[in-house]
Amino acid sequence: MTVFTDFPLHKSVLDAIQDMGFEEPSPIQAACIPKILEGGDLIGQAQTGTGKTAAFGIPLIERLTPANKIQAIVLTPTRELAIQVAGELRRISKYKRIRTLPIYGGQSISHQIRALKQGVQVVIGTPGRVLDHLRRKTLRLENVNMLVLDEADEMLDMGFIEDIETIISHLNAERQTLLFSATMPPEIKRLAQRYMNNPSTVAVSREEVTAPLIEQVYYKVFDRNKLDSLCRILDSEDVELGIIFCRTKRGVDELTEVLQARGYLADGLHGDLSQAQRDKVMKAFREGSIEFLIATDVAARGIDVSNVSHVINYDIPQDPESYVHRIGRTGRAGRKGIAMTLVTPREMRQMVVIQKQTKAAMLSRNVPTLEEVAERKQEQLREQLISLLDNDAMAEMYLKVAADLTATYPAEKVAAAALHLAFHSESGEDGEAESYNFGETGAAKGMVRFFLNVGRNANIKPQDLVREISESVGIPGKAVGRIDIFESFTFVEVPEEVAPFVYESLRQTRINGKRINLEPAKPRGRK
Ligand code: AMP
Repeated sequence: MTVFTDFPLHKSVLDAIQDMGFEEPSPIQAACIPKILEGGDLIGQAQTGTGKTAAFGIPLIERLTPANKIQAIVLTPTRELAIQVAGELRRISKYKRIRTLPIYGGQSISHQIRALKQGVQVVIGTPGRVLDHLRRKTLRLENVNMLVLDEADEMLDMGFIEDIETIISHLNAERQTLLFSATMPPEIKRLAQRYMNNPSTVAVSREEVTAPLIEQVYYKVFDRNKLDSLCRILDSEDVELGIIFCRTKRGVDELTEVLQARGYLADGLHGDLSQAQRDKVMKAFREGSIEFLIATDVAARGIDVSNVSHVINYDIPQDPESYVHRIGRTGRAGRKGIAMTLVTPREMRQMVVIQKQTKAAMLSRNVPTLEEVAERKQEQLREQLISLLDNDAMAEMYLKVAADLTATYPAEKVAAAALHLAFHSESGEDGEAESYNFGETGAAKGMVRFFLNVGRNANIKPQDLVREISESVGIPGKAVGRIDIFESFTFVEVPEEVAPFVYESLRQTRINGKRINLEPAKPRGRK
C-alpha cells in the first residue's frame, strides 16, 4: 500500500493533503506522483473521478517556488474545469506561498489582468482566453517549466488544438509536459509525439474485475441536492445495516454530522479515529444500535459484518477495484444485498468505466419523489404501530392521553391525529424547490423540448441522438420523444423527469465528434 508520506513531498504539501481529508493516494496518483516528481514527461489516461487533478496537482505544487513568476500553466477545455482545478490547486498549496489564477472567457479581462499583475505562480486557463492574454502581452510564459494539458481529448473536440499549439510555441522547450486524457484518439497521440519528450504512460488498470453477484443500481443525482437525494433513498429502503462510502475523511465527518442531525442512527469511521473510537463505532454497528456506518475506503477495509443489507456509494469510487471492494461488504454469508451508487452528471463517464470493467448489470433508478417516500413512510409507520400494539409495552403517559381523548373524540380520529403528528414530524421538511424549470418549451405533455445548435449539417441522425440520450442518462431509447432535425438545428423531446439530466450531461457535449450545445426550446413561434 502506498501512502502520501512515501513520496518525497514537503511537509507543507503533506499537511495540506491531510487537511483535504485524503487517506491514501488513488491508483492514478500512486502511479503518477513519483514519476512527475522525477521530472519526466507523462501521459495519464484517466477520467474525472479518479483523482487525476491531484495526480498532477500535488507534484506541480511541490515543485513551484514562491518566486514572482508564472512557473506552470494548466490548460483545460472549459471554464468550469479551470475553476475546479484552480480550487484543488489552491487547497494543495494552502501552506505554501503560491498564488493560482484561473483565466477563462466570459470573465472580465481587465479583472484578470489586474490579478495577473499581482503576481501568480500558476495559471489555469482555457486555450482561447490564454491566447487572448498572450496577444495582449498581459501573460508572460517565458518562465514556465511545467505545462499540463487536462482533458486533452475534450480540448481536441472543442477545436482547441491549434490554439494549444500556438500557446506551446510561447513556452520554453526545456519544460515538463503532462497530458491527461480519458481517451487517446490519434490526434492526441500525435500531439504528444510532437510536443512531449519521451513521455511515460500511466493508465489506471484496465483489468477486468469481478463484482459479486448482488443487485447493483445507480441513481442520477446532482451535487447540489445529493444529500436530500440520499435521505430520500434511505427513507424508501428497508435497511438492516448500511455502509455509506465517502471519498475523504472530511466527507465522512460532514455526512455523519448532517445525517445525525436529521435523526438517522449513523456514525462515521475513518483513519483519524483512535483504535478505541473505532472499536466503539464498530461494536455499535454490529449490534445494530447504529444503522448506518459512514466510512472511507481505507476504514472499511476488512470490515466483515454479515448482515449489511446496503452498500451506498455516496461518492463514486475512484476505480473499479475499489468499487468491487466496497460492494463486497454486502451480500455476505449467502445473504441478499444491494449496492447503490450516486452519480452526478460529470461522473457518468467514470460510471461507464466501472460498469465495463466489472461487467456489472447496473440498473438506473430514479431518486424517489417526495410522494413515494411519503407513501413508504406510511407503510413503515403502520408496521411500527402494529408491533407496538402487539407488544403492549406502551408508556403510561401515552395510554392516559389516549384514554382522555377517546372519552371526547372517536377513537379512529384520535389515532389518525396521532399518525398525522408522527408522520409530519418525521418528514416535516419541504421538498427542495424544483430548481430546474425549463418553462414552456412547446413539448408534448409530460415532456421537455430541447434545442440543439446542429442538424443535418453535422450529419445528426435520430438514432445518434436516441443512443446518446439513452446511454448518458440510462433511460430506454423508446422513452425519447419526438425528434425534428433541420439543416442547422434540431429539436428533441425527453420525459420531464430526466430532462435536467439530459440537460446537464448533454448541454455541452459532442455527437459524431461535433461539439453541440443544447438548451430548452422556446415554444413555436417565439423562437
Ligand atoms: P478528479 O478525478 O481529479 O476530478 O477528483 C475527483 C474528486 O476526488 C475530487 O473531489 C478530489 O478532491 C477527490 N480526490 C482526489 N484524490 C483523492 C484521494 N487520494 N482520496 C480521496 N479523495 C480524493
